[in-house]
Amino acid sequence: MTLDYDVAIVGSGFAGSVLARVLAVQGYDVMLLERGTHPRFAIGESTTPLANLSLERLAKRYGLRDCYRLAAHGRWLAHHPELRRGLKRGFTYYRHHPGEPFADRGLDSERLLVAASPDDAIADVHWMRSDVDQHFVREAIAEGVDYRDRVEVTQAGFDEGGATLRGVRLGEPIEIRARFVVDASGPSGFLARQLAIPSGLERTRTRAGLVFSHFAGVRTMRELLPSLPAGPYPDDWAAVHHIIDEGWMYSLRFDDGVTSAGFLLTPRGVSSLGDAASGGADRLWAAMLERYPTIGAAFADATPTMPIAWLPRIQHRLTRAAGPRWVLLPHAYAFVDPLFSTGIAWGLRAVERLGLMFEQAASRDRVPEVAVLERYERALAAEADQIDTLVAGAYESMAQFDLFAAQAMLYFASVSFAEVGQRIAPDESVAWRGFLGVGDPVLEPLFGESLRRLSEMTRGHGTAAVIPSEECRAFAQWMAGAIAPRNVAGLADGARHNLYPVDLDVLVERHALLGMTRERLMESLPALRGMSPEPSFPLSYRARTGSADPSRP
Ligand SMILES: Cc1cc2nc3c(=O)[nH]c(=O)nc-3n(C[C@H](O)[C@H](O)[C@H](O)COP(=O)(O)OP(=O)(O)OC[C@H]3O[C@@H](n4cnc5c(N)ncnc54)[C@H](O)[C@@H]3O)c2cc1C
Repeated sequence: MTLDYDVAIVGSGFAGSVLARVLAVQGYDVMLLERGTHPRFAIGESTTPLANLSLERLAKRYGLRDCYRLAAHGRWLAHHPELRRGLKRGFTYYRHHPGEPFADRGLDSERLLVAASPDDAIADVHWMRSDVDQHFVREAIAEGVDYRDRVEVTQAGFDEGGATLRGVRLGEPIEIRARFVVDASGPSGFLARQLAIPSGLERTRTRAGLVFSHFAGVRTMRELLPSLPAGPYPDDWAAVHHIIDEGWMYSLRFDDGVTSAGFLLTPRGVSSLGDAASGGADRLWAAMLERYPTIGAAFADATPTMPIAWLPRIQHRLTRAAGPRWVLLPHAYAFVDPLFSTGIAWGLRAVERLGLMFEQAASRDRVPEVAVLERYERALAAEADQIDTLVAGAYESMAQFDLFAAQAMLYFASVSFAEVGQRIAPDESVAWRGFLGVGDPVLEPLFGESLRRLSEMTRGHGTAAVIPSEECRAFAQWMAGAIAPRNVAGLADGARHNLYPVDLDVLVERHALLGMTRERLMESLPALRGMSPEPSFPLSYRARTGSADPSRP
C-alpha cells in the first residue's frame, strides 16, 4: 500500500495530534502514525499557565473549541467531564530529611507554595494523558487527519521532493510518501535513528533516574499535617514536590483520587541507596518510603494501579532539531526533568510555531523553508539549554531549602512575567518569544549566573553540601535583586513566608515593569485574571481567511 500526503507526523501524543489537526485545518493532507494504540498510559501530566495560554491561542487561531475549554479546570469540568483530570492551583514544595517526619514549624516550615491561579475555575489542570491524548487523536480524525495506529516505521529516506517512509502495519508492508515529516515520537527517537542524528547529551548537566506509577488511596499532606498554616490554596491541589537528599518526588492528584507519583533520583542519590538500587522498582520505591516517614505515611495504604517502573536515566538530547523537509517536536529533541513542569508548555509552543511556519510557507509545495527551520532549531537548542541550566541549578540548591526556594524564584519570575506579557499581547506575536526568558536581556543570563553561584557554594557536593546560612541568605538576596526588573508577582519577599498568592495589587503597583501605565494595566485586568468571555466558535482559520488553501491568504 503506498499513500501520498503533504505531511506525515510520527507519534500521536498530544503534541503530534494537535499539530496534525492544526495542519489539517490549514488544508494540508496529514497522516498521523502511531506505533501503539489509544488509550495508552503516558507520563507528563501537569500543565501550567503558559501551556494553557498556548492551548487558548491555538483554539482561537484554528477554531479548536475543545482546546479552549480544556485550558482551565472550570471550563474542562463544564464541557468535558468525561476526560479525567486533576485540579492544579499551583506549585507546592516540602523539604524532607531522611529518617525524620516533616517538621511542622508553622510559618517557618520548609515549605513553599506558589499559586498559579486565583481560583479553581481558571486553574491549571493535571491531564490524565490516556484520556486526553485519545481525545486529541479523535479530534484530529474528525478534522480529516488520516490516523493509522499499530504502525512500525522501519525506514525513512529523504530526497528533494520529500520523504518515503516504509514500515509494517498488522503484518502488511506500508509505504508513505510525504513532502514533510514531523517526528513527534517523544524519547523513542524515530528520526534520530533514521537520520543518525548524534546525541547532544554530553552538553547537558542534569541527570536523574525515575521510579514511578499511578496510585489509589494516597493520603493528602493536609491530612498528615493538619496544623500547617493555611496557604494561598489547599496544598495538595497542586503539583506537589517533595525535596529529598537523593533528588525529589512529584505527586499529582487527579480529581478521581488517583495520584501520579515518582521519585527523581540523582546518580549520587541512587548510589546512596545501596542494595535497594539494584533490587528492582518495587524495592526502590519501598526504600524511599521507608527513608522518608511523612511520604511513607502518605503512601502507606496506597496501591499502584499499574506496575511500579524504574527508568535509570530520563534525560535525552539531540544535536539537530530540524532539516530540509523534517522537524522534531521538543520531546523528540530533548528532555531534561519534570521539575517545573516545562514539557507540555514547550511542546505546545512548538506546535504554535510550526502552525505559523506552515501558514507562511511560500514554497511551491507549501512546506517550511530551510531558513525558518533553522530558526526553529536555534530556538529549541537555546531553550533546551535554558531548561537544563535552571534545573541543574535547582538540583544544586536542594542542599538547603532556602537556597532551593530562592532558585525557584527565578523560574516563577520568568514564567509570571511571560504570562502577563502574553495575556496582554496580540496572539500572533507570542509564538516565537523565547521560552523561560530566552532572548530576554535581563532573564536569559541569570540562569547561568545562578547555576554558577550555586555550584560554587556546593562545590560539587550537590544535596550533600553543608552551606552556611549567611551564604544562603546572600544568595536569596542576590536572586531577589536580580529578578527585580521582571518580578511582577511579588516574589522573593521574606514577609510572605514562602506562601505566594496571585496578587493583582502587586501587579498593578509594578505596572512600569511591563512598560504600561497604571490605567492601561487596570483596563487589562479582566484578561490578566483569565476572565475574558469565551470566544465564539467556530472561529476557524478557514472562516478567518475565507479559504482552506494557505497559499491564498
Ligand atoms: C517523569 C516525567 C514527568 C513529566 N512531567 C511533566 C509534567 O508534569 N508537566 C509537563 O508539562 N511535562 C512533563 N513531562 C514532559 C512530558 O512528558 C512531555 O513533554 C510530553 O509527553 C510530550 O508529549 P509528546 O506528544 O511530544 O510526546 P509523547 O507523549 O512522548 O508521545 C509520543 C508518541 O509517539 C509514539 N511513538 C513513539 N515512537 C514511535 C514510532 N517509531 N512510530 C510511531 N509512533 C511512535 C508513542 O507511542 C507515543 O504515543 C514529564 C516527563 C517525564 C519523563
